[in-house]
Amino acid sequence: MRIEQNFSLEKYNTFHLPVKTRWFLEYADEADLQKVLHDEYFQECLSQHIGQGSNLLFVNDYNGIILHSAIRGMEVVRETDESVWLRIGAGETWDDVVAYAVSQGWGGIENLSGIPGETGAAAVQNIGAYGAEIKDVIDTVEAWNQLTFEKHCFSAEECGYAYRWSRFKDPHADPHIVTYLVLKLAKNPVFNLEYGALKEVKEPTLAKVREAVLAIRGEKLPDPNVLGNAGSFFMNPLVSEEHFERIRQAYPEVPGFPTGDKVKVPAGWLIEQCGLKGKRHGHVGVYEKQALILVNYGEATGDEIALMAESIRAAVKDRFGIELMPEVKYIA
Ligand SMILES: Cc1cc2nc3c(=O)[nH]c(=O)nc-3n(C[C@H](O)[C@H](O)[C@H](O)COP(=O)(O)OP(=O)(O)OC[C@H]3O[C@@H](n4cnc5c(N)ncnc54)[C@H](O)[C@@H]3O)c2cc1C
Repeated sequence: MRIEQNFSLEKYNTFHLPVKTRWFLEYADEADLQKVLHDEYFQECLSQHIGQGSNLLFVNDYNGIILHSAIRGMEVVRETDESVWLRIGAGETWDDVVAYAVSQGWGGIENLSGIPGETGAAAVQNIGAYGAEIKDVIDTVEAWNQLTFEKHCFSAEECGYAYRWSRFKDPHADPHIVTYLVLKLAKNPVFNLEYGALKEVKEPTLAKVREAVLAIRGEKLPDPNVLGNAGSFFMNPLVSEEHFERIRQAYPEVPGFPTGDKVKVPAGWLIEQCGLKGKRHGHVGVYEKQALILVNYGEATGDEIALMAESIRAAVKDRFGIELMPEVKYIA
């Protein structure tokens, strides 16, 4: 177990905010984690589990305990002619898992190449990109209940997955810490190339699809190691059909994707229409190539980023009557 006091989180958040936490605690395995959960001081303190901080905004220093997993490893736990079940430690870097699966010829996660963060968080967030979501390959999520200290293996159905959502994000459910997941991957991959530029991939192989996804992402998204950011800052809002129709009368080109009885509107488009793409205030900006991403030009504070996000929300609400919800989690 690694324990640090007054520890800088600059390397543990992709906005690279130089915030500090009172305690940083990294457990090596489930036995270590159990000790932490049973510790009375831990129970009394404010605490927050993090991965690589690629979906977090630290608004200021953290006066509590930041928990981090060092549980790694990938192991095939079951195999048939069609599928493999791969069990992965929550602390593994997600893209290493994708690279490994692709190298073994196992399909199902190649479209999720290049998404920053760790594997535990990927299951919490239900990461998604280019027409795929991790929920479609999740067999089991192994997690510890922070209130009862018991371990439970959740089936994909029990995880309650929806767009960027799972029971592990639900503030009304018992808090859980994910330690392992089991993914069911296909030995005879079926390619999912419906999304835009992926249609161009001819005679697809897993490696070609991964390459194409990484190339598209490299074009569109800022590299957090160069320009601090947390990916899409807001979720794409769902509006009623009537609301969408009203917007379309004023903006005939508005993009919309029917989702159940609602229409999903790209948040980036709404922000762009407010004239905010590429705008900069001090050290914070709206990324010039993608209005959904807020970037730290070097010296931004969490407060400044939060303020910029608020002004974007107000502008979109004012013009379209739509309330944008942050995808990024604020930590104060
Ligand atoms: C450039 C860029 C591009 C991105 N592109 C995408 C994309 O295409 N699709 C997409 O879905 N996301 C994308 N993201 C967002 C981000 O990569 C994902 O949300 C990722 O899963 C976060 O992983 P993390 O390890 O950084 O988790 P963190 O940001 O540290 O944490 C995220 C959440 O998971 C919880 N958590 C972390 N580990 C555990 C655990 N072991 N047990 C319980 N809870 C845990 C945290 O408490 C928090 O609520 C992007 C981000 C960036 C910076």
